[in-house]
Amino acid sequence: MSSPLRQRRWWPPLLLAATVLAALALGALLRSTVAGAAIALALGLAVQQLVPGHRTARDPTSAEVPLPTPPRAAAPAAIAGVAAPRELDVAGHGAHTDDLTGLANRRALHQRLETALAEPGARAALVLLDVDAFKDVNDTLGHHAGDRVLRLVAQRLEHVAIEADLLARVGGDEFAVLLTGDGADDANAIGRRVRTLLEAPLDVEGLAIRLGANIGIALAPRHATDATGLARRADVAMHLAKTQRTGIEVYAPERDRHSPARLALTSQLHGAIDGGQLEVHFQPQADTRTGAVTGAEALVRWRHPEHGLMPPAAFLPLAERAGLMGPLALMVLDEAMAACASWRADGHDLTVAVNLSVTNLMDPDLPAEIAALLAERELDAAHLELEITEDVVMADAVGPIGVLHELKELGVRLSLDDFGTGYSSMAYLKHLAVDALKIDRSFVRDMAESAEDAAIVRSIVALAHALDLTVVAEGVASSRAWFAVRDAGCDLGQGYQIGRPMPAPAFGDWLATRSGRAA
Ligand SMILES: [Mg+2]
Repeated sequence: MSSPLRQRRWWPPLLLAATVLAALALGALLRSTVAGAAIALALGLAVQQLVPGHRTARDPTSAEVPLPTPPRAAAPAAIAGVAAPRELDVAGHGAHTDDLTGLANRRALHQRLETALAEPGARAALVLLDVDAFKDVNDTLGHHAGDRVLRLVAQRLEHVAIEADLLARVGGDEFAVLLTGDGADDANAIGRRVRTLLEAPLDVEGLAIRLGANIGIALAPRHATDATGLARRADVAMHLAKTQRTGIEVYAPERDRHSPARLALTSQLHGAIDGGQLEVHFQPQADTRTGAVTGAEALVRWRHPEHGLMPPAAFLPLAERAGLMGPLALMVLDEAMAACASWRADGHDLTVAVNLSVTNLMDPDLPAEIAALLAERELDAAHLELEITEDVVMADAVGPIGVLHELKELGVRLSLDDFGTGYSSMAYLKHLAVDALKIDRSFVRDMAESAEDAAIVRSIVALAHALDLTVVAEGVASSRAWFAVRDAGCDLGQGYQIGRPMPAPAFGDWLATRSGRAA
């Protein structure tokens, strides 16, 4: 599934991402030494700065920007608010203080929010922020450097948000600024100031590191009148700032994916999986040279009693958040294997492809479950293909890679989906041991008209073939596109020109008609 964020031109990020990965790999090898980490950070982060969407960079020419001295004569109440957590700590209430930064912790924030919102109509603003690219620092320079970054961020917040009623560290790299009463009017200005100041380089172990932040703002009583509600809405806004790459967002109910309607849908999804409302449709793939159908991709749909047939984009994010990706994937795998076994029993030499998310690949039981399903359907592992996306690599977790290797050992085929839209890098194609690349539809769609897109597709094909990978062109929607992908050397095509996604019985009929026509 392609997300809109991934619909970008791939090649500048590709070249740069390859360099980043190479630099980070070099750094990983040398991680035991500070020099190694410095090399990785210097090369990796410097290059990332050039990649759209990555603001983190080490700028070797930049020096630590001196911080303004906070005015000492600010209103006593405001200063007292900021200082409160330390006072609590001194008084022995460590349960309210974050040990690392000395700021208030999540519990203290919640209590202060409850107190502030106790009176009807009370005004408050919660500015929530997470530090961009903190993970890069932690992974590259180690936890010690990570801790130093968090302390420096806390110091900067104290300088920039002196009007705050409370400053808190509420999670790993998440901080909150609480403003109450008239101070709530300053939320936007403070948010922007925090952002600017966090973009100024920080000196960490002799390296000037530029972070940046994603900031979400929620206001009481406008967005919520209770502590939990306000915190949740600030969190929604912060995630929007991150995913939309805007950096700062004020909560807007119409953009809240967790509105009551969406919550209702999530609870219905639980029942839909067991209740048979989810359907698996199959979209054929064909050999570009012979036109023969070689396989199909299994695509899940939700036949909702009120909303009709819903595409995966409308409910997979809900499944992800509701922890339903596991059961969902098993249901699709089971139906896909059943369908493939029946095609093969009818004499069609077809494979079936199933999409897996990073969440699925985090499940260490997945290989055994797939092996059991294959045995149950008496299907050869080689007839099952699992489509993964580049997020697996970017998730930077050991778990998924281990699961992928186990799946490989089972004998299933792996393909890299939506290729070209993410941080496409040839460097990890071999590392992931994939068998096929699926070129994203955004390149295929216009390649008959666009010389540039055609050149991109041909380059991907050349590289993929050099690595002995099969190339599948997605989104082949016209006869012109069909001939264009064939001429570009793509091995297989998938798209409306060959066939639309169809329920299993319809796919069986389509297959019979098509092979009858070909005979
Ligand atoms: Mg796919």
